[in-house]
This record gives sequence, structure tokens and C-alpha cells, in this order.
Amino acid sequence: MKRPKSATDVPQSLIRPLVRDLHAYLPGEQPKIEGLIKLNTNENPYPPSPKVLSAVKAAVDARLRLYPNPTADPVREQLAKVHRCQVENLIVGNGSDELLALATRAFVEPAATVGGRLDSRYFKSAPKATVQFLAPSYSLYPVLAAIHGATANPVSLEPDFSLPSVARLRRGRQWDFRAALTYVTTPNAPSGHGCATAELAALCREQRGVVVLDEAYADFAEESALALALSHPNVLVARTFSKAYSLCFQRVGYLVGPADLIAALHKIRDSYNVNGLGQIAAAATLGDLPYYHAHFRRIIATRERVAQQLAGLGFGVLPSQTNFLLVRPPRFEARTWLDRLRERKILVRWFDRPEVRDYLRISIGTEPDMEALAKAARTILAG
Ligand SMILES: *Cc1c(COP(=O)(O)O)cnc(C)c1O
Repeated sequence: MKRPKSATDVPQSLIRPLVRDLHAYLPGEQPKIEGLIKLNTNENPYPPSPKVLSAVKAAVDARLRLYPNPTADPVREQLAKVHRCQVENLIVGNGSDELLALATRAFVEPAATVGGRLDSRYFKSAPKATVQFLAPSYSLYPVLAAIHGATANPVSLEPDFSLPSVARLRRGRQWDFRAALTYVTTPNAPSGHGCATAELAALCREQRGVVVLDEAYADFAEESALALALSHPNVLVARTFSKAYSLCFQRVGYLVGPADLIAALHKIRDSYNVNGLGQIAAAATLGDLPYYHAHFRRIIATRERVAQQLAGLGFGVLPSQTNFLLVRPPRFEARTWLDRLRERKILVRWFDRPEVRDYLRISIGTEPDMEALAKAARTILAG
């Protein structure tokens, strides 16, 4: 049905063709239904530390009228100590998503655009306009490339979701070693597969452009590749307070890397890109790390227990170094499982993409959450 015309209807021609045709990023559902067990967006099931909650509460007063620290210096100073680097190696963002977008804008030439068509001047230097990533990985990357008018170059992971070796990438010919920007989700999402730092180092050494290692889930992994960002001129590591540090709501992430690349990103960010309460929450988080380490151990233990339990019920369970599991459910299609679990008030994630259509991604919740999941799975299988 056609929308009735109103005084506020504007001609579509006012909008850039690139934006008009854009498919925006599709975030996981944030439902308002009571009593739902939410295992769909990889949030930490445990609350932030009590010290974080009291720091944020104590900051809510008349000072809200003031601008926050423009460069999030108190947070950067603490991060510099935690990661043994300089403040100049750090930029804090409104979630790591903001920083991924800034990296696209700082390091990649927009190829598209006069009248929505590719500008021929850029054809010859296509790598400069290329945003490269592995498939499947974080589904924001192709959206960032599209928004920027850059060319996306998705290249398949191995069938077991591991990173192809440099030799394999060379033989495959599709990988661009000169791409302006390459995103690697490590550990991988949505598969949970963890990469060895040596493999990542080998890839980073071969890339001529910038490589962003997106370590949103590194706290649940066996290794972190953070050291590569402090030893390679073209490597940035993205981290976030969202998942592991129970702060999705506050939107704080950061990049670690060479001072020159970080300085380029500072030039193009908003003057006050990180809100004040977010900065206070992040600083208080860094002041209470042992609280979080205990929860990481607990979530990993739950993950391993649930993996065994689901495997026992006939699920194909992939090894995970994250706070979620990618599983291939038995008997019914993954899509059907999504609906049947939802009927039982359990929300998980299903991606309508060829590589993962047969799988469900299940975030690790509390022990009672995961008991409820196992119970629902048994009921569905019996039905
Ligand atoms: C959740 C997630 C992010 C985004 O984190 P924010 O800091 O909340 O913006 C980035 N990368 C990956 C792989 C993620 O899963």
C-alpha cells in the first residue's frame, strides 16, 4: 500500500543515492518483554562492579551541564598502564563501532559517488578504496564500507571458520594484500573461533594497508594479539567495554595502535565523542579488574559445560573462545529452533547468511539461564 502524501513528504532526490540505497546495520533485538532470557546479543549476564555503579550514581548531579573531557584522558591514562603503552597509542570512542567507522573514514578513499556511480578516476587505484574482511565476521564491516562509498572485499574463512593461511590467501587470488583497510574479528564472531597471534602476525606483515584486529571478545580467549598493535606500523587493535565489562549501555570502546594512525583518528572524531558518564564508568571499571576476571572464568566454565550438554543432545557445537556458542541444531532447521525457543521465552540469534544459515548463535548467560535453555531444547526435541 502507498503511504498517503503529507506535508512532510520529501522527494527522495534530496537524499544522496548512496544513502537512499543503503541497507543499514541490523542490530540484535532488544525486546521489552518481561521474563525473556536474552541470549541474542552477547551481553554479559552479570552486572557491572558495584564500584562502577556507585561511581556513575555519584556523578549524576549539577556537573551534567559541563562538557566531558574531550580526549577521555583519565580513561586513556589508565588504559596506558593496563596495556603498557603511551597515551598517544590510544583513542577512546562511543563504543568500538564508532572507532571502526572512523578508521574507514581515515584510511579508505571513497570510490563511489558522483551521481551514485563509481568515479572512474578511482578504478586504477582500487586497493585504496577497498575495505576487506573475512566472511562470516562482524556484519557491520560491509555496512561501513557501503556508507563510505568504498568497495567491500569479503573473503571466505576456511570451512571450519579458521583464518586461511597467507599461502592459501595468495592461491585464492581474491584476497587483496594492498587493501587500504582490513578488518579481522578475532576471536571470530559469529563462529567463536580463536586465532593464534602468530597467524595474525603473519597476515599483518603481508598487508600493505591498515589492519584492524577487532578483539571485542578477547577476554574470553586463550590469546590476545594486542602486542601486534604496539610492534607493527599498520596494526590497530579494537577493544570494547561493552561485552566483557558489562557496559553496552554506556558505549565505550577504544583502539590501541601506532601513534601516527591514532593521531589521524583523533583529527576526524567529534570533539566530545565519549559521554561523561561513560568515561566515569570506564575509569571505574579499570579500577576493579579482578571483579571482571572472576566473571570471565565463570562465563568460560559455563560455556564449556553448555557446549557438552548441547553436544549430548545432538547439537553440533563449534569450539568457542568467546562468550557465545555457534551450534548446528538437530532435527529441525535452525530457523525453526529460533521460533520454538522464542515461544519458550528464550531469545537466540540466527543469521540469514549462506555460511551460517544452519546455525544458531547462543550467548552465554547465567547458569540458570543456560539450564532453562537446555530444558527448552529437551522439550523441543521431545515434541
Ligand atoms: C559487539 C561488537 C562490537 C561493538 O562493540 P561496541 O563497543 O558496543 O560498539 C565490535 N565488534 C564486534 C566483533 C562485536 O561483536
